[in-house]
Amino acid sequence: MATGAAGLEICTIGGFTKTEGNSVAVKVDNEVVILDMGLSMEDYIRYTEDLEDTSAKTYSQLLKANAVPDYGFISDWKEKVIAILPTHGHLDHVGAVPFAAGMFPTAPIICTAYTAEVLKTILMDDEMQIPNKVIVLNSNATYKLSEKITVEFVHVTHSIPHTVIIVLHTPHGKLVYANDFKFDLEPLLGPKPNLKRLKELGDEGVQVLIVDSLYAHLHKKTPSESVARHMLQEVMLKTESKGRAMIVTTFSSHIARLKSIIEMGEKLERKIVFVGRSLDKYCRAAENLELVDFSKKVMMMRSRDHAERMFKRIEKEGRDKYLIVCTGHQGEPKAVLSRIARRETSFEFRAGDIVVFSCQTIPVEINIEQRKKLEESLKAQKVRMFCDVHVSGHGALEDHREMFELVRPKHIIPIHVGNEKAKMLANFAATMGYKSTHIMQDGKRIML
Ligand SMILES: [Zn+2]
Repeated sequence: MATGAAGLEICTIGGFTKTEGNSVAVKVDNEVVILDMGLSMEDYIRYTEDLEDTSAKTYSQLLKANAVPDYGFISDWKEKVIAILPTHGHLDHVGAVPFAAGMFPTAPIICTAYTAEVLKTILMDDEMQIPNKVIVLNSNATYKLSEKITVEFVHVTHSIPHTVIIVLHTPHGKLVYANDFKFDLEPLLGPKPNLKRLKELGDEGVQVLIVDSLYAHLHKKTPSESVARHMLQEVMLKTESKGRAMIVTTFSSHIARLKSIIEMGEKLERKIVFVGRSLDKYCRAAENLELVDFSKKVMMMRSRDHAERMFKRIEKEGRDKYLIVCTGHQGEPKAVLSRIARRETSFEFRAGDIVVFSCQTIPVEINIEQRKKLEESLKAQKVRMFCDVHVSGHGALEDHREMFELVRPKHIIPIHVGNEKAKMLANFAATMGYKSTHIMQDGKRIML
C-alpha cells in the first residue's frame, strides 16, 4: 500500500459498499482532507430508535452498529488530517460530525452557513460538543488550507439550501467532489447551479470526479423543484377539500418544498401550522440566515403540548380552516403523522380527509415497513392519500452526462452507491468515452 508516498491518494471510507454514511479521505502528499462525515441513516435509526440512554451514542457504539463511517481505515493518516469538509446539511453527509470529528481535534470543519447552522442544532439537540473549529465558507469562494491545498466551494442545487460541490486544488491536479447534486435550472430557493465554473474547471483540467450516483439506474434528467411546486399546486388547489382536513408531510430540511407548501396554504386561505421538532429545527436554521420568513406565515408547534392545544383548536374551529404540515413522511412511529394515525392526538382523521406525501419512501427496509404500516392505517380510516407528490434532489444519468461534459475528468469514482449502480454509471461513462471509472468498496485506497 502506497501510504507514505507523495501524490494524490483517495481512501473511500463510506458510501461505496453501502449507499449511506458518506465519507472520503484525500491525501495530498503529507496532508489529509476528509470530505463529508455522514451517518448511515438506516443503521442509525435502527440503533437509536429504542435508545432511552443518549450516552449510549458514542462513536464506538455507533461504529459497532454500522451507523458511522469507519475511520479505522485511515488510522495511519489520523495525525495528517487538516480539515473536514461537509458538502451540505443532510445527515448522511454531516450527521457523523458530532461523533467522529473529535478524533481529528485540530482539523477545522469548513462548510456553508446553512450546513453550519444545521450542525449547531444537532449538537445542541444531543447536548454534545466538539473540539473542532467551525469555519463558514460561502458558495463560489475559496479557502487556502495549506501551501499545497486550496478548497473551493462551487454552488449546486439539491434538496437543502447551501449545497456545494467541493474542489480541491492540489499540486497533483484538481479533485471535484459532487455529492449530492442535481442541475436545477429553475430552482425555487437560491441561485441556479454554477455551471459556468464547472466548465472552467473542465477547461483547466480535472484529475478526478467523485460523483453522487444514487440515480445511476435512471435514464432521465431529474425534474426541477418548480415541477414539484406544480404537482403540489395541482393536488392541493384542485382537489375539493371543503370540510376536509389537509395534511402535508415532507422532508424537514427541504426548505424550498416547504416554501411551496406554504404558498399553497395561503392560496387555500387556510391557517398554516407546522408540527414536529425537526421542522422547527431546520426552519429556524433557515430563518437565522434570512433565507426564508416562514414565522410570519406559519404557526410553529415546538412541543407536544403546543401541538395538542392546536389540535383541539382545529377540531373546534373547523378542520378546513387549517393546513397541517407535519413530520412522519417515512412512517416514523414516533412522528406526528403516525401518532395522529394511531389516534393518540386530539386531532383525529375522518373519512375524506386529505394527506399529501410530498416525498418518496427512501428505499431501505425499515422505511418501507413503517410507511406500509402508516398507509394501511390511513386507508382503514378512509383518508385520501396523495403519494409521491415529489421530485428528487439527486441527478439521474442525463444530469451525469451534463456533469461529465462540463468537468471532463480523467478519472471517475461513483459514490452514494452500491456496486450495481456504480457499474451502471461506469458503463454509461464508457459510452461517453470515459474509460477510467473506478468502482470502489468502503475502506479501499486508490493512488492517482
Ligand atoms: Zn443530500
